[in-house]
Amino acid sequence: MNIHEYQAKALLEKYGVPVPRGAAATTPEDFITALTRLPDGPTMVKSQIHAGGRGKGTFTDGFKGGVKFCKTKADAKEIAGKMLGNTLVTAQTGPAGRKVQTIYFTVASDIKKEYYLAILLDRATSRPVIVASTEGGVEIEKVAHETPEKIHKVHVDPAYGLADFQVRELIFKLGLNPVEAKNAAKLIRALYTMYWETDAAMIEINPLITTPTDEVLALDAKVSFDDNALYRHPLITGLRDLNEEDPKEIEASKHSLSYIALDGNIACLVNGAGLAMSTMDIIKHFGGTPANFLDVGGGASKDQVVAAFKIILGDANVKGILVNIFGGIMDCNVIATGIVEAVKEVGLKLPLVVRLEGNNVTAGKATLANSGLALVSGDTMADAAQKIVKLVAA
Ligand code: GDP
Ligand code: MG
Repeated sequence: MNIHEYQAKALLEKYGVPVPRGAAATTPEDFITALTRLPDGPTMVKSQIHAGGRGKGTFTDGFKGGVKFCKTKADAKEIAGKMLGNTLVTAQTGPAGRKVQTIYFTVASDIKKEYYLAILLDRATSRPVIVASTEGGVEIEKVAHETPEKIHKVHVDPAYGLADFQVRELIFKLGLNPVEAKNAAKLIRALYTMYWETDAAMIEINPLITTPTDEVLALDAKVSFDDNALYRHPLITGLRDLNEEDPKEIEASKHSLSYIALDGNIACLVNGAGLAMSTMDIIKHFGGTPANFLDVGGGASKDQVVAAFKIILGDANVKGILVNIFGGIMDCNVIATGIVEAVKEVGLKLPLVVRLEGNNVTAGKATLANSGLALVSGDTMADAAQKIVKLVAA
């Protein structure tokens, strides 16, 4: 789960990470209230969307910059009016962009230098990794590609925690002066505590800045959490902004389905994440493109299958459906009954290929064959994938 910058900054502050003073607003009337909470002087106006690259983004009406520096609060109010309700397109939003529904005003900081700092889980080592660089404020992927030697990493032993020598190592690599170093050490420790205690998946501060008075501040914050740990954090769960999520994904989570929308045209309905991944691969292998990842889980019910079909069909790009089920815990006949019911209920007109294998498969296949529905049966994964790719291309 992702949260907005203004929410992330409130959490950072709670953990003792210095951030610029700020106030959020969701209506033009709120702009004044928010701005009166900030001192007079240079103010940043920041569009709140769950995507980075806002500064270099462009609104669909041509207005440039989702993050703007303003000399006065009066200017900030005017600029905020141009951003709110407008749709911002950045390198991370895709061409459709995101509608800005919240504006965050912050005191504009004086920047001496911009750095990059992030904590995330390194799956290769099963440990949190702290990533730091002297190249802040730019795309870190670019730095990693062009000057990988400027990216420094420290892996933290989760049992031991972050050690002092590791903090010193990072600070040394960033080349900070003694006052900055002292401030940065405190900040890195606080950030790690937040990462650990909130079950964060990633905290990315880009840029982390030093000021002319040697303060160290988090100027931007991108924070995401491990969905599987959200049950331990009701307050964080409350920060979820459904406006930022794909409605199909929200509907899927209501039915305990794992659904991720993709941009192809062959919808997949599969049980088990591994099988779902290989189903997407095999569609690609035979020249098709998957429209989604959809895992109905190990023991899906008929209702879940019906819900899954409805979600799949909510995507206008879908031109065909491939159902790939391996019945282990799952009874193939339950799935088959669900498919028949769903197809009838939604009045499916698109090509549908079904491959069933495993537990009670004979009964399942009989249910499909006797349904009178125009669905195509696939004998193996390869056979089924080839059939749906061909049907969609026709
Ligand atoms: P992003 O474009 O979505 O990553 O949004 P950021 O919050 O990182 O802002 C984009 C850029 O605006 C930053 O990299 C900074 O260079 C600049 N910026 C943001 N806040 C301030 C500020 O308080 N003062 C100054 N001078 N520049 C800022
Ligand atoms: Mg940034």
